[in-house]
Amino acid sequence: MTDTTATETGARETNNRETRAFEADVARLLHMMVHSVYSDKDVFLRELISNAADACEKLRFEAIGRPELLGDDPKPRITISADPENRQLVVEDNGIGMSRDEMAEALGTIARSGTRAFMERVEAGKAAEDSQLIGQFGVGFYSAFMVADRVDVISRQAGGTEAWRWSSDGKGTYEIAPAPLDAAPARGTRVILHLMEDASSYTTPYRLEGLVTSQSGHVPVPITLVEKPGAEPRDIADGTALWVRQKSEIKPEEYTDFYRGIAGQYDEPAVTIHFRAEGRQEYSVLAFVPGSRPFDLFDQDRQGRMKLYVRRVFITDDADILPRYLRFVRGLVDSADLPLNVSREMIQESPLLASIRKGVTNRVLGDLAKLADNDAEAYARIWENFGVVLKEGLYEDYERREQLLKLSRFRSTTSGEASRSLADYVGAMKEGQKAIFFMAGDDRARLEASPQLEGFRARGIEVLLLTDPVDSFWVTMAPEFDGKPLKSVTQGAAELSDVPLPEDAAKPAEASPEVGAFLAFVKSTLGDEVSDVKASDRLTTSAVCLVAPEHGPDRQFERLLNAAGRLDKAARPILEINPRHERVAALARLGDDDRTFKEDAAHLLYDEARVLDGDKPADARAFSARLARLIERGLAKG
Ligand code: ADP
Ligand code: MG
Repeated sequence: MTDTTATETGARETNNRETRAFEADVARLLHMMVHSVYSDKDVFLRELISNAADACEKLRFEAIGRPELLGDDPKPRITISADPENRQLVVEDNGIGMSRDEMAEALGTIARSGTRAFMERVEAGKAAEDSQLIGQFGVGFYSAFMVADRVDVISRQAGGTEAWRWSSDGKGTYEIAPAPLDAAPARGTRVILHLMEDASSYTTPYRLEGLVTSQSGHVPVPITLVEKPGAEPRDIADGTALWVRQKSEIKPEEYTDFYRGIAGQYDEPAVTIHFRAEGRQEYSVLAFVPGSRPFDLFDQDRQGRMKLYVRRVFITDDADILPRYLRFVRGLVDSADLPLNVSREMIQESPLLASIRKGVTNRVLGDLAKLADNDAEAYARIWENFGVVLKEGLYEDYERREQLLKLSRFRSTTSGEASRSLADYVGAMKEGQKAIFFMAGDDRARLEASPQLEGFRARGIEVLLLTDPVDSFWVTMAPEFDGKPLKSVTQGAAELSDVPLPEDAAKPAEASPEVGAFLAFVKSTLGDEVSDVKASDRLTTSAVCLVAPEHGPDRQFERLLNAAGRLDKAARPILEINPRHERVAALARLGDDDRTFKEDAAHLLYDEARVLDGDKPADARAFSARLARLIERGLAKG
């Protein structure tokens, strides 16, 4: 391009000097950036550093065929120099540099593909709710204008004999002019930011160092800081990304430091997962299971967030790489195959990412399974912290349900404070037992005292006690483990007759023949408060309990649905009555002389079952009237 080229909006000047307009889009973007997304201005430094690192990488590549390009300065380097007094910040690299044309081309157009989408969102007025957006897309070089009211770029191409100076106030035009060689870098690019008044803190060494380590500490080029003019350069990042180093060379405390930085935690990681996938897809993963619960673990919209790098250049903070139920895992993936200018949309849709997602998820679950096998105690602690979250996967991730069931741990009627795996459970099943029994509810003590468990206890059958709200959901999905269905003890028939009572157990009294008629009486008295009244084989000492019908939700899930106003009438409970219970037998033997008493008794049996389940009596007024009649009757007899 020569100085005689006139552009529509450009004004030609003499002697190679000209003033040109940014493309219209750019001017608009600059304005929007400075005014709508101000809160994320920190990203400018990352953008400049990543450009500088790119330039060094490009040179490294070019120099493979033309080693003379490196001259006597073969080591890539990024230098950040602050000048607090003059409110200037300089980011300089000894990379490939730019020719005049490249400067006009590269710094006069917006390069990033995500930028257009970004602008559309800003224009749709969505910028406020998407204040993270700018960081996700990256706005490249122009982000410098968020903090600077003038930016000068002086560049000399590797192997070039001239230097050029690009300069702009970011308001719509820029200027390109030759620069004297003695005021230019020997090779590469110097970006000089004339900081705005309210951006003067970006010359503070502490601030700069913090930004570099948190945002760019892992770019593959060493970074040096010069705190003020004349100060000794100081290394603040060594240019080796931790995850590309050999596992065997990394000390545990280096992993811990890194974990603390990336996870925002102050403890030790419970599991460190570091591997490189090779083959069809190449990527490195460094991820951690935290030693304790992160504060935002239960945030409604906390997704499975991992950092994504492409060839060690940071792309985004919250790549959708792990499923929601692994949202407690913190770490990063560095892909060798994704394009560097990948945008948010591309990330979501990329088939490359889908296969990374699968690989990383399998690896994390695999490592957890290994730990569970090798160090049950350490795994138990992880389960204590994150089991509730992992269990979400039992209904969200059908494909991996089997794997997740293997990882799951439970308390049971026989476990005490220890936790049991389903494999443990199956190993302890009684002869004739066909299902894995569980009881769900929110209070373990109340569950343990439930009458529904009596028949299981009498036969020594273990029952899992599920007390997390999420349990009620996954158990409705008809899970099986090792070919055995999971079955609620509060639903349907107990199928206990398959399992014989132990020899030494006290044999229950035979049910009396009158009991059948009494059950029918109770049923007609209660009407449609219950869906049925049945003789129970799950009760040994209690007189009554409630169970849910065979098909549909179990008692706990029924209760949740009811609380949400979504239980349909058909799902009313079944009242089970212990036909061998003395009180029941005596009531059954009563004649029909005192109907009121018998009816009161029927209602009170139902209310008793409700109260044992943690519910209220069906009708509080009627309940107290019946109770009062009963007490008066007892007093009159006495
Ligand atoms: P991107 O980095 O996504 O391409 P930027 O807006 O950050 O977008 O940069 C635009 C272009 O400017 C780069 O692609 C590169 O060609 C050029 N550039 C920016 N900074 C430098 C630099 N320090 N050295 C060489 N070229 C640079
Ligand atoms: Mg860039």
